[in-house]
Amino acid sequence: MPDLHKWTLVAGGASGARCGRLTTPHGVVETPAFIPVGTKATVKGVRPETLREIGATIVLANTYHLSLRPGAEVIRDLGGLHAVMGWDGPILTDSGGFQVFSLAGLRRVDDAGVTFRNHIDGAEMTLTPERAMAIQNDLGADIIMALDVCPPYPCSREEAAEAVRRTLLWLDRCRAAHRRADQSLWPIVQGGVERDLREQCARRMVDMDFPAYAIGGVSVGEGHALLREVVGWTTPLLPADRPRYMMGVGEPRDLAACIAAGVDLFDCVLPTRNGRNACAFTADGMIRLRNEVYKTDVRPIEADCDCPTCRRFSRGVLRHLFASDEMLGPILLSIHNLRFFTRFFERLRQAIRQGRFDAEAQGLLDRYYQND
Ligand SMILES: [Zn+2]
Repeated sequence: MPDLHKWTLVAGGASGARCGRLTTPHGVVETPAFIPVGTKATVKGVRPETLREIGATIVLANTYHLSLRPGAEVIRDLGGLHAVMGWDGPILTDSGGFQVFSLAGLRRVDDAGVTFRNHIDGAEMTLTPERAMAIQNDLGADIIMALDVCPPYPCSREEAAEAVRRTLLWLDRCRAAHRRADQSLWPIVQGGVERDLREQCARRMVDMDFPAYAIGGVSVGEGHALLREVVGWTTPLLPADRPRYMMGVGEPRDLAACIAAGVDLFDCVLPTRNGRNACAFTADGMIRLRNEVYKTDVRPIEADCDCPTCRRFSRGVLRHLFASDEMLGPILLSIHNLRFFTRFFERLRQAIRQGRFDAEAQGLLDRYYQND
């Protein structure tokens, strides 16, 4: 089924910021796009129709969490992730690698796979490339990710090199074990902050010919300057006619830098996690709604925001909801923050189509970071 997944360039050139259209079995994603994170098969507190209303076109769910609870087979028996999430648009699942290397109690990594104690009941489990594929085949997302090795930051050059070697070894096995032609399998370029390792990993993956390429192991503490360098080394080696996905990046200056380098897809927990913590994204930077200064503030979070929250609720009301621990507070703020991100991307897509990406991005960033 080769035509189920394809990406077509819409605007921009062989290098730099570009617009594209990603076709999946469950619909089209205009890129560059932001992917809201639905860790446990739900974008916390946000109904799927609201996600649609505020411009989300694709969502992400986490393989590690869902394989533990309720279990991949349970998701499959409930009709797959689209049924479970009540979302008939495109879905992407990660491989579980990042969580196993960061959340779980890591026991052992060898060429066979990674053995860990899960964070729920402490049971020892092993994730192999074959198991990562079987789980994601059961979950049934449109896009699935190959199991990679995510070293911490900082790590030694030897550790980064070993992660690349193992990621490539596992990629072969993922491809061999992947069973569903309706799911697109994407590899993840690793290599830490070592230029030659990033290049070597990207070249080997491109030789293996995948429909898209992800960049992983960034936004793990290396900072903006190194992230820019990594994306600058990696994207020129990736084919211009395939989508590129930067995993786990959501800080506005990082997003703009990656889009400028030709990255098309991003996911991040920032809008929803910050939303649950009363932190609101605005064009003028983040504001903390628990602050006393908003007590009788009758203005919406952002005057020009078209989200359902800003149309009906003031900063003062939101502050009250958070101060009273009412569940509507995190719900409403998650919705606004997600809309902030989808609007950010809508503006940048329009700017790319009009050939003025650099000026638009600079304007957005100057305003967002004005108080830094
Ligand atoms: Zn809003």
